[in-house]
Amino acid sequence: MKHALVLFNQDLRVSDNPAFFYAMRDHKNVAPLFILDEANRRPLGEASKWFLHHALENFSKELLEKFSLKLALKKGDSLEILREIFLSKNIEAIYFSRVVNHPELKLQEKIKKLAEENSIAVFDFKATTLFEPTEIKNGSGGYYKVFTPFWRHCLKNSDAILDPLPSPAKGARDFFLDIENDVFDLLPKKNWAEKFEIIATSSLESFLKNKVQEYKQARDIPSLNGTSKLSPHLHFGLISPREIFYAAKKISPSEGKTQFLTELGWREFCHHLLFHFPELPTKSFRIEFEKFPWKKNDFLLQKWQKGQTGFPIVDAGMRELWTTGLMHNRVRMIVASFLVKDLLIDWREGEKWFWDCLIDADLASNVANWQWVAGSGADAAPFFRIFNPTLQGERFDAQGNYVKKWIPELAQLPQRFIHNPWEADENLLKSCGVELGKNYPTRIVDHAHARDLALMLFKSLK
Ligand SMILES: Cc1cc2nc3c(=O)[nH]c(=O)nc-3n(C[C@H](O)[C@H](O)[C@H](O)COP(=O)(O)OP(=O)(O)OC[C@H]3O[C@@H](n4cnc5c(N)ncnc54)[C@H](O)[C@@H]3O)c2cc1C
Repeated sequence: MKHALVLFNQDLRVSDNPAFFYAMRDHKNVAPLFILDEANRRPLGEASKWFLHHALENFSKELLEKFSLKLALKKGDSLEILREIFLSKNIEAIYFSRVVNHPELKLQEKIKKLAEENSIAVFDFKATTLFEPTEIKNGSGGYYKVFTPFWRHCLKNSDAILDPLPSPAKGARDFFLDIENDVFDLLPKKNWAEKFEIIATSSLESFLKNKVQEYKQARDIPSLNGTSKLSPHLHFGLISPREIFYAAKKISPSEGKTQFLTELGWREFCHHLLFHFPELPTKSFRIEFEKFPWKKNDFLLQKWQKGQTGFPIVDAGMRELWTTGLMHNRVRMIVASFLVKDLLIDWREGEKWFWDCLIDADLASNVANWQWVAGSGADAAPFFRIFNPTLQGERFDAQGNYVKKWIPELAQLPQRFIHNPWEADENLLKSCGVELGKNYPTRIVDHAHARDLALMLFKSLK
């Protein structure tokens, strides 16, 4: 008897998964397979591995309980693994969700070719973005490099976004690919990840019911729990962007809802840019930035990584990242700006650190956002707009609640000094239990001086 193989990747869900849905509808025997392929993709960071471990565990359980399907897990070069399966397992069709970005795109093309050479039918589907990058073209047939017209175009064409598919009908298939599972060993050796958390995808419902109204304002305040926290789920495909778009469409209009959909739009835009400019992870989109005289300074880089810069909002963000595998979006912008514009360290160093530490690390969103902050990206924040970390702290963490949470050493300081402890006099610091240079670092740069230097170097690029 012949079988259909469903190759799962960043679509670890049973609902709104066209590859899984149609394989289950059209074949009696369906074999689900996940390949951990680090040869043909950028290897996962440590925090992402942690998330993937739990996502796969839950997904395997769900496949088994609802459909009696056993998820096969293999590790290695996808092409070698599939070649062997195609030769030995009587497969008649392969189903998968199309990726939209390099280098996985190339791999999927090779998988298609391999299947066709083995007379295996290929069924691939759009499933990771609302639109595929080839579907969105500007007036002259090229691709959009500016977000606002890009998203306006997407919204104008939103009728083309089909309603999400349901899960396939429940029922035992009682079939599995008779191969031995590989051990993935995805969890960190040390108990670094003990405070990482996986929220349920069903939290979308409560977010749309209880929080979206306030989202436009709350999303910028790091001490509030005002955002959806869905980014790792979107990255690994535990939920589809179409499911989110559809659920949001059904609720009544509000500024918050429009803003939330716009953020989904940024995710689309990042994928769109990476598709059209595959060098985005390694090369500045604005080519003049390739000549920027970045400093190589491991000492300062480590201070930033460890949250030891002496700027409370920056240190709080970096400590949140290390502890939870996530960081609030506003603070991501502040710490990224600090690395690139105050420390003059190449955005690629920051991107690498985020890649390793974020549970939502996503190639398109990470590199596009780093380049956005650095000023080297498409539609980026101009380089000369340099965040002052103290003022950013005072504006978005006015009471200092976020800083106090992540830097308890500063918790006793009065609000007036929480973002600038160096301005408090010795006696006050002492009475609040703060010893600069001992239990909290002195500033590693002078912001005003760093700003002038950054602007001078930026001007010299022209
Ligand atoms: C320097 C930097 C690096 C970043 N790296 C990543 C990354 O590796 N992976 C990642 O998913 N996001 C990244 N972001 C974007 C953003 O910070 C996160 O998507 C967001 O904080 C996730 O929280 P949330 O799910 O609660 O978002 P919400 O505010 O609830 O937004 C809903 C969804 O929209 C998308 N989204 C929101 N903001 C952005 C954005 N600026 N760019 C792209 N998509 C967005 C996400 O998928 C998010 O889940 C980065 C931002 C910066 C400034």
